[in-house]
Amino acid sequence: MPVSLPRGQTGGKRPPAVGGGLPPAPAPPADLASRKQQAARTVRSLAKEYPDAVCALVHRNPFELLIATILSAQCTDERVNIVTKDLFKKYPDADAFAAAPQAAIERAIKSTGFFRSKAKSIKACFAAIVDQHGGEVPQDLESLVRLPGVGRKTANVVLGVAYGKAFGVVVDTHVGRLSRRLGLTAATDATKVEADLMQVLPKKQWIDFSHRMIYHGRRVCIARRPRCEACVMLAFCPRVGVEY
Ligand code: SF4
Repeated sequence: MPVSLPRGQTGGKRPPAVGGGLPPAPAPPADLASRKQQAARTVRSLAKEYPDAVCALVHRNPFELLIATILSAQCTDERVNIVTKDLFKKYPDADAFAAAPQAAIERAIKSTGFFRSKAKSIKACFAAIVDQHGGEVPQDLESLVRLPGVGRKTANVVLGVAYGKAFGVVVDTHVGRLSRRLGLTAATDATKVEADLMQVLPKKQWIDFSHRMIYHGRRVCIARRPRCEACVMLAFCPRVGVEY
């Protein structure tokens, strides 16, 4: 079915690229009120489309979610879930990971990619959790990001999903890409994208918003070939119809 495009859109024709790269994104609305309106439309559409979106990483507690999130860097959630099934049986708590030889962790997580640096991070992270936090995963952003191998994204996942605490917005590749396409930010740096989103989204939406954007990014607003004709945000997305 041909897409009925909003007035003024490009109709799938690629705008002139700068320097041979991707077409330049339209600048997001300059004023905060317009960006907040766009964010509200996005939140409403995604909530209607994906009311039950949740984190796809299988886990039973904050400890397991932290491991799964570290392993998910440059790896699919499906692969991580396969690996963690046996991993969590072998290493059931922070003490077990802190005491495990790094080579054994490497072997167990090899298929998730970047296994040497991930094993190093996991071992150091859980050694710090045992030493400094009594074996419990901390419940605040500041303590989490001080742990080896834990950045803001991982910390926000653990805090939002495992503890239901919104300290920030999880910005992965999908959330960043969709936020730019929808005109909620012009930033490419994840920390700046997060700051822009925190400015325009109500705090109570921070956790669900990311889950829903990730669902939409995987199913519809795909990186190289967005399926705009199937998108619930067709009516108000400034990038509708742009080819990549
Ligand atoms: S799929 Fe198309 S219309 Fe939907 S958010 Fe992505 S670029 Fe915009």
